[in-house]
Amino acid sequence: HKVMLRRLIDKPTITRDKHVVKLVANISSPDEVRDVIANGGEGIGLYRSEFLFLGAEKLPTEEEQFMAYKSVLQQMRGKPVVVRTLDIGGDKELSILNLPKELNPFLGFRAIRLTLDKQDIFRVHLRALLRASSYGNLKIMFPMIATLNELRQAKQILIEEKNKLVEEGGEVSDTIEVGMMIEIPSAAILADQFAKEVDFFSIGTNDLIQFMMAADRMNDKVSYLYQPYNPAILRLLDMVIKAAHKEGKWVGMCGEMAKDPIAIPLLLGMGLDDFSMSPSSILSVREQLATLSKAEAAKILDKVLSMATTDEVIKLVKDRFRILD
Ligand code: PEP
Ligand code: MG
Repeated sequence: HKVMLRRLIDKPTITRDKHVVKLVANISSPDEVRDVIANGGEGIGLYRSEFLFLGAEKLPTEEEQFMAYKSVLQQMRGKPVVVRTLDIGGDKELSILNLPKELNPFLGFRAIRLTLDKQDIFRVHLRALLRASSYGNLKIMFPMIATLNELRQAKQILIEEKNKLVEEGGEVSDTIEVGMMIEIPSAAILADQFAKEVDFFSIGTNDLIQFMMAADRMNDKVSYLYQPYNPAILRLLDMVIKAAHKEGKWVGMCGEMAKDPIAIPLLLGMGLDDFSMSPSSILSVREQLATLSKAEAAKILDKVLSMATTDEVIKLVKDRFRILD
């Protein structure tokens, strides 16, 4: 079976009814790009840039950050690379910042909330990204956006840093797409509004599900509520994807759900464009998608969206599709 999968390495990802999607990878460091290429990844869907910061004894310099981003872009040779701006704070603790302990770190001072406040850190980070942009196909994505105001502020700071660099004579790509994570319910519900102001969405189901179900993703006692196939979640995902498409914007998913064999037919039916996952999952997902028809998946999705419980959804998907584990 492994040998069969390897044949899919340099093939496009295409369904039985000839619908094409992209399978891209989640990474945390430039070293992981080798795995992405070895597993036939068509790009990077999520580069968790904060990993240069976690555990560091001092903040990484602009040059250190630039080298890391440039390395990823060069290794990917023009394939898309989505870099998420710093998702630090909260559960991703950063000892050098000396932030007070929080009662609810997942709901706290983290990601875009922290970087809009500590703009010195944010601006250096963005400069490093902008300088790296001429080495490949960079897309920049903001995490944990809850309001349009946050998105507009982040975009404004990005434009300011870009203008400064250009004035200094630096080379900056002028085709950088700017997107946002959809991982907070308020942004998901207002997706039609957000879609007018970004080039793409990437749905972060790891956080989105915990916030929708009010169930801490790290707490075993409530893990039964962590339900990716709950019709409430599925309706929301469907709404987000349709809202983006209506504005002509593409949608990826970079949470764990994107590689889940039960979720995949449903996400295909919704029209998800990019599935982002750990490199080791790419080939088996490509194989599964080749057995599916988008038209058929859309019909099953229709039924699923009018169901009431997670169990009904799982049963129907398992009855209608051959799910390999
Ligand atoms: C997510 O929330 O789904 C996500 C991809 O981000 P992280 O897991 O890094 O919070
Ligand atoms: Mg997240």
